Amino acid sequence: MGKALVRSFLAQSMRLTGILRSSETAAKNQLNILCYHRILPTAQKAAYFCPDLVVTPEAFHNHCQTLAEFYRVLPLAEAVATLQQEQGNETGSGNNGNAAADKPIVALTFDDGYVDNLKYAAPILAEFEQRATFFVVSGLMGTSTPPWYDLVARCVLDLAEREEGCLADGSPAELALGLSAVEVVEGAKAFSPELRKSLAERLCDRLDGAPQFADEDLVMNAQQLRELQKQGHEIGSHSVSHEILPLLSDQDLEEEIQLSKQQLEDGLQQPISSFCYPNGDFDDRCLEMVEKHGYDQAVTTRNGSNKAATAPFTLKRRFIHEERLADGQGRPSASLLRAQTSGLLDRLLRRGGQDA
Ligand SMILES: [Zn+2]
Repeated sequence: MGKALVRSFLAQSMRLTGILRSSETAAKNQLNILCYHRILPTAQKAAYFCPDLVVTPEAFHNHCQTLAEFYRVLPLAEAVATLQQEQGNETGSGNNGNAAADKPIVALTFDDGYVDNLKYAAPILAEFEQRATFFVVSGLMGTSTPPWYDLVARCVLDLAEREEGCLADGSPAELALGLSAVEVVEGAKAFSPELRKSLAERLCDRLDGAPQFADEDLVMNAQQLRELQKQGHEIGSHSVSHEILPLLSDQDLEEEIQLSKQQLEDGLQQPISSFCYPNGDFDDRCLEMVEKHGYDQAVTTRNGSNKAATAPFTLKRRFIHEERLADGQGRPSASLLRAQTSGLLDRLLRRGGQDA
């Protein structure tokens, strides 16, 4: 509660002192990119193994409404191009009266490509005539297989309901001695794909079969992605299988980057120009590879703003955490969202560097 009150106080004083306005004026020279994952109603958010990755439709509606007033919301590729163009014009002719440029640009991005994005986020974006970028795990497109971390986490949660605990390799433990779903998933991120597969199999065996997943917990199919495209949204690649790229061999890494682009382009009949590193992890090979295979920009999970001159393959983003952007009563705070979007909140709370 202490932290919530501090945030609430910050929100009020920012409005009163005008520093929010000046932060947004400074943001006109920046590209701020917001990072969302899932949009789900409260009950489903609470049941998800990592509720921090979920924003409810009510809060998202509020976010879009606030952004509509203070920002120009664009898909990532368009945002990068627009910023470059406007800054080019500015150095050439002085900033003479581009009315649209009165507001700073913000790009909205959604990671993983869950069906919930189409079901809950798209109608809200349409209401405010906003367009966004959706990063899709191409190998799961239209399959009944959830992302590996969701399968592992659900198994651990289902076992816990049966009072059974779980160790890092999926073997049984007393519940009190077992790891949480988040801990098992975090540990498994360092596993090889084979080891991770055997972890999932062991967990499913202990449950006498794989848990069933609802439609909105799966990755969108090509038709659903085309529907988003038709509404003006951008589809980007989030690799083929959401592997941690720096752990892969050169050959596997290239496949994740090249094949995902090809699969999405085949399904959508449109060029794919944006990439998102799974888990935010990348190395020099990844940067070379995304450029080699014709992407124009790529986003990380590093926290911060970008300038027009920022390297286009290591773009920073700002993570959207519903509760941290809520006021003392737990309602979405327009001031806190604006402060987070422009980078003011990080500066006030002296948060720099990496975002989780
Ligand atoms: Zn992801």
